[in-house]
Amino acid sequence: MAYKLNPKAEALTPYDPVTGSYQVRLDANESFILPDDALAEKLQAKLTEVLFNRYPDPLAQKLCECFAEYYGINPSAVTAGNGSDELIGLIMNAFLMKGDKVLTLAPDFSMYRFYAQLNECGCDVLEKRDDLTVDVERLKQMLSSGAYKMLIFSNPCNPTSLGINADDVRGIIRSTDALVVLDEAYMDFWDQSLLKEAEAYDNLIILRTCSKALGLAAMRIGFAVANPLLTKALKSAKSPYNVNSVNQAAAVILQDKDFLRSSLQCIKESKQNLLEGLKKVTANERDVTIFDSVTNFVFMHCDRAQELFDFLKTNGIIIRKMGDKLRITAGTQRENRLLLEAVSRFFNSEEGKA
Ligand SMILES: *Cc1c(COP(=O)(O)O)cnc(C)c1O
Repeated sequence: MAYKLNPKAEALTPYDPVTGSYQVRLDANESFILPDDALAEKLQAKLTEVLFNRYPDPLAQKLCECFAEYYGINPSAVTAGNGSDELIGLIMNAFLMKGDKVLTLAPDFSMYRFYAQLNECGCDVLEKRDDLTVDVERLKQMLSSGAYKMLIFSNPCNPTSLGINADDVRGIIRSTDALVVLDEAYMDFWDQSLLKEAEAYDNLIILRTCSKALGLAAMRIGFAVANPLLTKALKSAKSPYNVNSVNQAAAVILQDKDFLRSSLQCIKESKQNLLEGLKKVTANERDVTIFDSVTNFVFMHCDRAQELFDFLKTNGIIIRKMGDKLRITAGTQRENRLLLEAVSRFFNSEEGKA
């Protein structure tokens, strides 16, 4: 006799991030800014206070308070997770029953479909228009069928770098009694957040992460913000000690508003520089479309996406490729310059000519 995996487990493959060493990494939408020396020292001091033999605070209260304070919301509406990725899984665990159906958009963040499948739930998809905008009326119409227990999407969207304005999102949430999971991982870069009004809805959970604008991808910290009923369910469903004490010490970074605001400004400028630079170096290319961006990355269509991706890779620059689209994270001035020079070489040199 031999143990046999069930078909669900058999179909799984490990997440496959970019590996190898590249001099320029613009593939994962991380911040390019490290805490300054003063902040790094404060963090170190906090780490020396950690009682490594004791379990962490199960509710990560200090961390939730600092998050709430930074965004001007009520701390009791906040649940901390080990990255918002963990929270996506947790929300599907807690709020879906086997066989329930989830609705999401495409293209959008790939983990939504993954966690829905892991929970033995079907996942339908509304494809975006050719210009990658969302047909909001069509979305409401799909929801009105009553077939869906959950709608999950990112706003602004990874990977399209586009956003749905707050009024349209409000309309979507009000049009349905499905649970709406609104992933605002990139909302620091835009001004259409529903965070401050999250508790006013009975069917809304907003996700935020420390991995992008806040520059803490290494730590794995995410937050869910929702009304008391949903928050109680989330806190009850999570594993008790999900956020470790080292992560909780990162609260000092959330308290450093000057650092966070100046980082944000710097990343926004970098994105603008990257966006304009890419438009310029591809101005003569008819097979290239650069999308507008309200995030910290730029999304582009390129008929020769694979060739351009490979060319950049051999030049020590790694980005993300999705079919005939490319996603490029805003980097340091030097990284952006190296990227733009390489893209320009690709289109203008003989090596790059089709
Ligand atoms: C990066 C990203 C996340 C993941 O955040 P973590 O907190 O690092 O797990 C969630 N949603 C979207 C859309 C992202 O791009």
